[in-house]
Amino acid sequence: MNLYTSLPLIARAQRHARRTAIVDGGGSFSYEDLLAASFRVAMALLGGRSDLNEERVAFSLMPGLAWVATQWGIWCAGGIAVPLPYHSARSELEYFMNDSGASTVICDVETSQAISLIAAPRGIRVLLYDHCNAFRQAESANAGSDVTLQRRAMILYTSGTSSRPKGVVTTHANISAQIASLVEAWEWSAEDRTLLCLPLHHVHGIINVVSSALWVGAACRMLPRFEANEVWDRIAEDDLTLFMAVPTIYVKLIAAWDAASEQRRVLLSRECAKLRLMVSGSAALPVSTLERWKEITGHTLLERYGMTEIGMALSNPLRGERLPGSVGKPLPEVDVQLVGEDAKPVAPGSIGEIEVRGPTVFAEYWGEPEVSRIAFRDGWFRTGDTAIVENGSYRILGRTNVDILKTGGHKVSALEIEETLRQHPAIADCAVIGLPDLEWGERVAAAVVLRRDNELTLPSLRTWAKELLAAHKVPSRLIALDALPRNAMGKVAKPSLAALFQTPDGDR
Ligand code: AMP
Repeated sequence: MNLYTSLPLIARAQRHARRTAIVDGGGSFSYEDLLAASFRVAMALLGGRSDLNEERVAFSLMPGLAWVATQWGIWCAGGIAVPLPYHSARSELEYFMNDSGASTVICDVETSQAISLIAAPRGIRVLLYDHCNAFRQAESANAGSDVTLQRRAMILYTSGTSSRPKGVVTTHANISAQIASLVEAWEWSAEDRTLLCLPLHHVHGIINVVSSALWVGAACRMLPRFEANEVWDRIAEDDLTLFMAVPTIYVKLIAAWDAASEQRRVLLSRECAKLRLMVSGSAALPVSTLERWKEITGHTLLERYGMTEIGMALSNPLRGERLPGSVGKPLPEVDVQLVGEDAKPVAPGSIGEIEVRGPTVFAEYWGEPEVSRIAFRDGWFRTGDTAIVENGSYRILGRTNVDILKTGGHKVSALEIEETLRQHPAIADCAVIGLPDLEWGERVAAAVVLRRDNELTLPSLRTWAKELLAAHKVPSRLIALDALPRNAMGKVAKPSLAALFQTPDGDR
């Protein structure tokens, strides 16, 4: 077999041949195994051609060897990888396959029926991952194209909580820069062992966990999905060194720890304390969660900030003080600035919108030249997130259009109000939004999840909150829900919350 590629992630893997790369439900696989499996996928895709020339290849596979081999095989063959959410709604998969113009979709036996129903009428070729094994015998063949770093590599769809999902296109150069920045900042090494329990259609799992591990020759155990007790078992038994997750996963791990026997708690806490680094991101980490995690494991979670379009941009330090409620400083190779409404950098200590520049920033939105054009200003990508720098460290105030409420002439951060409301003894979880209002511009509205056997009325919440918040930040609308609507990455779908306040009995 000769898998030809100059792509850094895959070329580097050749150095780690015999080391364990991936552990999944099917077993333990070395870098050599991974390269061989990638070769078979490339051969199956090329079918005698020399280059896919940026054909889009979608894939719907469970996290594991097959997933990574497919991504690498597509890349070696010169295609653009379009990871699909595993087991997603038909309408969503249809949208991704249509929008990306996929020529082929690779799936497993479990998803093949659902995928074929969408692919067949559109003339999209369906390739079963297992069928790539037919190329096992082609040992002496060559596969791989001369793919330059400037070529497009991947399309990841944004979570689309506020608009239609957009296809974020990254080049091989972008992906390499995103990985290299994290490897440097968090000091990944071949001795690391990590666990993937995040879905693989999002930058967090793909870049921060799997690709970073494989860049350095580390081992990555991949779970099909998140399950709190399974994750705790892996922490207890697998000698992990590094773990990354979203805030809701930490909340669920805390609940599972609370529910465990005294003896198991002692074991879990002891083994967890041995990891060298635990990271949180993709949504704001409540300070209460950070504190509780520290109590039970001794770890101060390292919070970082990033997005699909830019990879990671800001991070608390690996060594040195991590500030609760803050996301730290720019990562290596990443330029960050805060700008005001006049598009000029704000004065130190003022609120502004985050703009990011550098090799980690994506190339374009797929098939959206105009949207791509206005997403950038003078070479800077406009993130749409608002932040402030305090004590030299960035604090995220939220999405500019969703979380920065304008009420009675004041600009208010929904995330700040949520952080305060979580301190209320009856509130287990909450989300704050702005509701249009003739008098105030927007009214502060809180959706809360109450702790068991608790009640909360708007007047009592307001009385309590006035002690902690300026009057204009105190919620004037309240609803209680069984759970907040969240997407697969644990982000609250705020636009869908507003409708719940429209019902006449929405307030309590
Ligand atoms: P995604 O592209 O799905 O990763 O979503 C990126 C968005 O998640 C950012 O634009 C932020 O609004 C939000 N986000 C990511 N990390 C954080 C963080 N540490 N704190 C607050 N918001 C975050």
